[in-house]
Amino acid sequence: MPSLTNTQVAVIGAGPAGLALANVLRQRGIGCVLLEAKTREFIEGRPRAGFIEEWAVRALEGHGLAERLLREAQRHTAFEFRFEGARHLIGYGELTGNHHYVYPQTELVKDMLLAYVDKGGGDVRFGVRDVRLHGLESARPSVTYTDPVTGERQLIDCDFVAGCDGARGVSRAYVTENGGTFAGHDYGVGWLALLAQAPPSAETVVFGIHERGFAAHMARSAKVTRYYLQCTPGDDIEGWTDTRVWWELQARLALPGGELTEGPLIEKRILGMHNYVVAPMSYGRLHLAGESAHLIAPIGAKGMNLALYDAFLLADAYASHYVHGDASALSGYSETCLRRVWQYQEFSQWMSDVLHGPSAEPFLAGLAKARLRRLLTSRTARTAFAELYIGKDTGF
Ligand SMILES: Cc1cc2nc3c(=O)[nH]c(=O)nc-3n(C[C@H](O)[C@H](O)[C@H](O)COP(=O)(O)OP(=O)(O)OC[C@H]3O[C@@H](n4cnc5c(N)ncnc54)[C@H](O)[C@@H]3O)c2cc1C
Repeated sequence: MPSLTNTQVAVIGAGPAGLALANVLRQRGIGCVLLEAKTREFIEGRPRAGFIEEWAVRALEGHGLAERLLREAQRHTAFEFRFEGARHLIGYGELTGNHHYVYPQTELVKDMLLAYVDKGGGDVRFGVRDVRLHGLESARPSVTYTDPVTGERQLIDCDFVAGCDGARGVSRAYVTENGGTFAGHDYGVGWLALLAQAPPSAETVVFGIHERGFAAHMARSAKVTRYYLQCTPGDDIEGWTDTRVWWELQARLALPGGELTEGPLIEKRILGMHNYVVAPMSYGRLHLAGESAHLIAPIGAKGMNLALYDAFLLADAYASHYVHGDASALSGYSETCLRRVWQYQEFSQWMSDVLHGPSAEPFLAGLAKARLRRLLTSRTARTAFAELYIGKDTGF
């Protein structure tokens, strides 16, 4: 017989979505067990996001999860398009009154683990294997998994399961195999994601729009810079030597007399640019949050922001259920999330057309340049763009 734990919410996955949710549940006195397939060391060192929208930071702050972030994160209010050999600054902070915080995802994950496990004494089980969900349509579903140390099956009986297990998790299939839809889209381009041990070469994010392909520069810290290079999807990483990477980055991003500062490349991997949305984001007593429900290529720096949005909304919905006996927020959870998800997906598509268009066939290149020129010449167009870029008022 597997050993049994009783709780209120079983949370699968300790990424930004699962950790934010678990922290809020613990703060509200709602019982929760957090299951994570990897080790703590692994998830604390997995480099991904850096750009967090201001509303998300305010939500983290409201739950006491942003103390170090507010102390250490850089504030960004502008970025640059580099296009046809010229710099074009987009001051989205001035247009919206909001800004981004630049804080590595690894640091946010560490902060949230510290709050949930070390300070809060929350129940987290790392390295779990073969997670399965059961009885999701019943009033008392359960989760089973194999303990990594003993090799024994464990059983968690709960009221709800929160599937926060990302793009490669197990939760999504329980929705799609029970009537849910999976809407996928492939941009047909790849990005070489790079982390360079080199100081930033510009004060802002730089999006280089170039006939050779898109490239981007994003500060991560005083000593580390993230770069992206558009490449063929499924390209052989071996062909991207450090010399070739820096040559392409200089060609697509540098301006005359303003070479990028080079340094060792400490991360180099190829990402396929594709998206998906699962709807609804719930099945029975399972609710998906974050990338288990929707993947968004890092074109507009939206994925972690959406994951946090879902997590805070879901935490509020569980709290309404337990504290006020009101189930309406839980039943409306999927619809509310999906409104923002589709706004962000639409923005990402627009950005992709503009960023990748000039290296595509002549017709798409012409459209991309027309969109870009409109943005650069019209304050109204820039304001509409800026609101989406910063995630303002996108919940309608
Ligand atoms: C290069 C790159 C740059 C990015 N930049 C940005 C950015 O600037 N801004 C932004 O908003 N977003 C960005 N993103 C996206 C962001 O990193 C993700 O959207 C975010 O990690 C999603 O969080 P999540 O909690 O939904 O999923 P994840 O972070 O993937 O977490 C899911 C967790 O579930 C665990 N898990 C999986 N399967 C199981 C299982 N069966 N059982 C238990 N646990 C399981 C995983 O190990 C993982 O820890 C970027 C992504 C990449 C790749």
